[in-house]
Amino acid sequence: MTEAIPITIIGGGVTGCAIACELSRTLDDQIVVLERNKTIPGDNQSSRNSGVIHAGIYYPQDKGHLKATLCVQGNRILYEFCKEHHIPHKQTGKLIVAVNSNEEAYLDDVLKTAIDNHVPGVQRIDAAKVNDYEPNVNATAAVHVPTSGIVDAGELVRMLKSLAVNVGVVFSTGTRVENIVAKRRGFDIVINAGNTRETFETNTLINAAGLYADELARMVNPGSPYVMYPLRGEAAKFSCAKRADLFMRGLNVYPVPWAVLPNGDRLDVPFEEFQRLFLEGKVTKSVGAHLTSTFDIADGNPVIGKTVTIGPVYIGNVGKEDYHQTRNKQHYLAAVKPFFPNLELEDITLHQAGIRARLKDHYDFVIERDACHPDCINLIGIDSPGLTASLAIAKYVRELLHG
Ligand SMILES: Cc1cc2nc3c(=O)[nH]c(=O)nc-3n(C[C@H](O)[C@H](O)[C@H](O)COP(=O)(O)OP(=O)(O)OC[C@H]3O[C@@H](n4cnc5c(N)ncnc54)[C@H](O)[C@@H]3O)c2cc1C
Repeated sequence: MTEAIPITIIGGGVTGCAIACELSRTLDDQIVVLERNKTIPGDNQSSRNSGVIHAGIYYPQDKGHLKATLCVQGNRILYEFCKEHHIPHKQTGKLIVAVNSNEEAYLDDVLKTAIDNHVPGVQRIDAAKVNDYEPNVNATAAVHVPTSGIVDAGELVRMLKSLAVNVGVVFSTGTRVENIVAKRRGFDIVINAGNTRETFETNTLINAAGLYADELARMVNPGSPYVMYPLRGEAAKFSCAKRADLFMRGLNVYPVPWAVLPNGDRLDVPFEEFQRLFLEGKVTKSVGAHLTSTFDIADGNPVIGKTVTIGPVYIGNVGKEDYHQTRNKQHYLAAVKPFFPNLELEDITLHQAGIRARLKDHYDFVIERDACHPDCINLIGIDSPGLTASLAIAKYVRELLHG
């Protein structure tokens, strides 16, 4: 009889790779990562996102304690990690812009949450200062967030995997977990790798399966309460080198967060009404379609490039792999024109879609031991800011394992 694998991680996205890297640094136990994609990085949330290093300004502690805490911690650790391992990244800073007095009420709420979450250096600035940062942006006021930035998510995942492989972690790609049988101690994992189906035993299971984490949690424990409500984010892009009036200095520029109905549509209401609906769980909060720079390579080095992405714009309750784009250029133009007025329809081309592991009726990340089978740690609902928080999430899981 073969021996049980001490630790099995399901999912080779940024979360699974970060956990593999973190645990392999501190434990001697054999770790295996199972990934159904044929490659890592593969096609998943970690490769279809905006690449923004969030500062932690959006997540109220009472609704999203883990998002709030792990985003701020993750932001700091991610910059250090990127510097140490030469991963393309840049601390660009971010502007959240209000274009009228109602939006300024939303802006003040962002500022309050940022202060509650101890986000460093955040400042409210006036219209003139906004134009010092980004001359072509229109605003009545803004919040400037110096710790926001961008990262090459693919390179981050590649590096995490390579560091883990170097200390003996085994990555089994093209391997789909089809079933999990929880035993009195440990688990039987049924995998399908190409045409071979086999079962092996593991002592500790870490479920980092992104959009499928809810289904895998129910294989372990049919009573698991979490249900995915996948949210597709679609994006477009333009070249800021096309005309002088489209020029951008590279900051991430966001509108104020807005209310999103369950179907993904924006609800435009005064701030007090938004707050009531948000606390009642009738709307969620979206960071809104924003402008984000991307990297070019110049002389072998990553530099802020000419391509600026617009988005994501969200559509709710879609299929977990339904990536087809439904929003037209007019939709993107309408979303950003109020704060980026020189953009025209012919400047825009469609870019990509990604699907967020948003949970139904649950705002925060879920990172916890299964209630009936505590040797399984579930990571469910790791949507934005999961990329930013990934290294902090990994440390949190290590503490949960040791605790
Ligand atoms: C449009 C969009 C924009 C975003 N923008 C940002 C941003 O700017 N900043 C930020 O911080 N975050 C952002 N996010 C969120 C961030 O991308 C995610 O939180 C993060 O990538 C989650 O990583 P993950 O490893 O948990 O999930 P994933 O990357 O989805 O990885 C899960 C992996 O599990 C594998 N898997 C699933 N089921 C099985 C199975 N049965 N067997 C084997 N393997 C399996 C999948 O193939 C997949 O590779 C964005 C997300 C989207 C979609």
